[in-house]
Amino acid sequence: MRNTNWMIPALLALAITAVAQQSASAPSNSQGQTAQAASGPAQPTLAPPTTMDQVVDRAIMRERELIEFLAPRTPVVETYLQNLTQDPQLGPIPDNDRYFLGRMDLSDSIDRSDFLSDKGKGGKDNDDESMERHLLGGFSKMFKFQYQPLGFSWMIYADRNDFDRQHYDFRYARREFLGDVRCLVFDITPKKDAGRGRFLGRIWIEDQDFNIVRLNGTYVRPSRNNYYFHMDSWRLNLIPGYWIPAYIYSEEGDFTAGAKNKIAFKAQTRLWGYNLKTGTASDELTQIRVDSVKDETPTAQDASPLAAEREWQQQAEDNVVERLERAGLLAPEGDVDKVLQTVVNNLEITNNIELPRPVRTRVLTTSPLETFSVGNTIIVSRGLIDVLPDEGSLAMVLSHELAHIVLGHNLGSQYAFNDRMLFSDEATFHNLGFKHIPEEETAADKKAVEMLKASPYAQKLETAGLFLKALQARAGQLTALLQAHLGNSITVNGTVARMAELENGAPALDWNKLDQIAALPLGGRVKLNAWDSKVEMVKAQPVAITSARDKMPFEVTPFFPRLSRYNAVSEPAANAASATAASNPAAATTAAANTTPTPSN
Ligand SMILES: [Zn+2]
Repeated sequence: MRNTNWMIPALLALAITAVAQQSASAPSNSQGQTAQAASGPAQPTLAPPTTMDQVVDRAIMRERELIEFLAPRTPVVETYLQNLTQDPQLGPIPDNDRYFLGRMDLSDSIDRSDFLSDKGKGGKDNDDESMERHLLGGFSKMFKFQYQPLGFSWMIYADRNDFDRQHYDFRYARREFLGDVRCLVFDITPKKDAGRGRFLGRIWIEDQDFNIVRLNGTYVRPSRNNYYFHMDSWRLNLIPGYWIPAYIYSEEGDFTAGAKNKIAFKAQTRLWGYNLKTGTASDELTQIRVDSVKDETPTAQDASPLAAEREWQQQAEDNVVERLERAGLLAPEGDVDKVLQTVVNNLEITNNIELPRPVRTRVLTTSPLETFSVGNTIIVSRGLIDVLPDEGSLAMVLSHELAHIVLGHNLGSQYAFNDRMLFSDEATFHNLGFKHIPEEETAADKKAVEMLKASPYAQKLETAGLFLKALQARAGQLTALLQAHLGNSITVNGTVARMAELENGAPALDWNKLDQIAALPLGGRVKLNAWDSKVEMVKAQPVAITSARDKMPFEVTPFFPRLSRYNAVSEPAANAASATAASNPAAATTAAANTTPTPSN
C-alpha cells in the first residue's frame, strides 16, 4: 500500500525541486518558508506551535508516526560492550568484552533475532532466552550476571507504547544546538502510577518539525531480578521527514574511591540497514539471479578448462558479495572502497602483479576486526579500518589478503551453487566461511611481507608492527572484538598470529609515549549510514592527545554525531535527488515533509 503512493513521479519531482531550493537557500530563512510552499495540496499544513505544551503534543505525534513508519523494518543491530577494570596508570581499561549482532523487528514490540546465537540450545537456555525477550531494556541477575542484547537497543524509542501525557510529565529545560540543529530540550519524568520500566531523562526536539533527535536517561522501577542501565540515544535525519535511530551509547560504573557498584562497562550500539528487505524465504527465491551474463568474448567457443575455472570462481564471488550485501553485512560500493583500492593498486604496481581479473575491495559493516577474501574480492571490517593507525598498517592488512589471491588460495568455489545462498540473514555465519588452513596462512604472511618490502610502504612498517604489538597487549581482554566470523581471526588462542616478522621488527610499545599511536579507538574513521548501510570516511578534526588515557586503543567511546538536516547533508542537488529516489518510502514525503509531519501511508 505504501508503494502506490510514494512512486508518484510528480511527488518525486517535487521532492527534487525542494531539495535543490533548500540547498541553495541561505540557512537563516530555513524556518519553514520553503518547505511550506512545497508541501503540496494533499498534505494538511500544521500551524507552528505557539506554546511549549503544543511542542510536546507535536513531538508525541511525530514519535507515533516514527514508530509506525519503522514498524515494517528489520534493521541490523550491533552492540559491542567492554567490561572495565581500573588501571592505575591508564584509568578504566577493557577487562573483557561481549559482542551481539542481530536483526531487529520493530513491528508490534521491539524484538530481535541474533546472528550469533548457537543453534539447538538446551532447555534451560531456552527458558532464559524467552525471559530475556520479554525483559525490558536492562540486564537480569537470575543465576549469574547476564547482559541482554535487546536491552541495549531498547532506547530507540522513549516508550514504544505509552509515550504520552497520561504517563509522563514534560518540563521544558532550555534551547540548545546539537550540531547544526536547534533543539528544544525537555526533562521527562514518569507519572507516579505509570508502572515499571518507564523512561526517565531528557529529550531533544528539533525546532522545525518537532522530531525527537536525542534521548538521554534510563528506565525506572526495575523488578527484583533485573536492572536498567543508562543510555544516550541519537537519531539522524538520513531521509526526508524522519530522524532515524542510529547510535546508542551505554555506560555504567563508578571508579571513585569507595564506590560500591561492581558493574562497570561501556557499550556502543549501532543500527543500520533500515532499507533492507525483510528476508522471507519466498523473497530470497525471487531474488536469486537467473539471468545469464552475456558472453562478450569474440570467439563463439566454449570456455577452456582454465577459463571455465575462472568463470566459476567469479560466479561464487558474485554470489557471496551479493548475499552479504543483502543481509546488511557488506556496505554498498563506495568511497571507502576507493581508499582501500588505492592501497591495493600501490602494492600490485610496485610488485608487478598482473592478475587475470582485477582485485576489488569491500567493507564488512561490522565491528570485529577481520579480513577475508572471496575470489578476487578483499573484504575488510569497518572496525578494523577504524583502529588502524595509518596507511602503512592498512597496507599490511590488505597485503595478507592480496597474497592469498596471488598465491591462488581460492576459497569459496562451492558458493557458485545458488542453493548455497538460500538461508536466512541471521544464519549467514553458519552458512558462509572463508577460513584458510594454517599452511596457507603462513605462506600468505611470507608473501605479504615480501610485497610490503618492495612497496611504497616499506618505510612505514614500524607503525604496522606497533599495531600488532598493541593488539597483542589487548588480545587477552578483547576476545570478542578479535573473533572473526567469516575469515581467519588475527589472533589464535590469545596470540597475534599474523605477520610476526613485522611485530618483531617494531619498537617497544610504550603507552606513556604520547607521540606513539599504535591503535585508535573504534568509530574514528568509518561512518556507517543507518538507513542504506553505505560507509564513508569520517572527517573529524584531530584532537591533541594530552595523556596516555587519551589513546584508548580499540576502545569504545560515547557518540557525538554532528546533527544536520537531511537537505543540508546532501550537497549537490543531483546526488540528493538520486538518494531520494533510491531510499524507500520516505521519497513520498517530499523534502517538504520536513515540516509536514504526515507519514506516507
Ligand atoms: Zn589469511
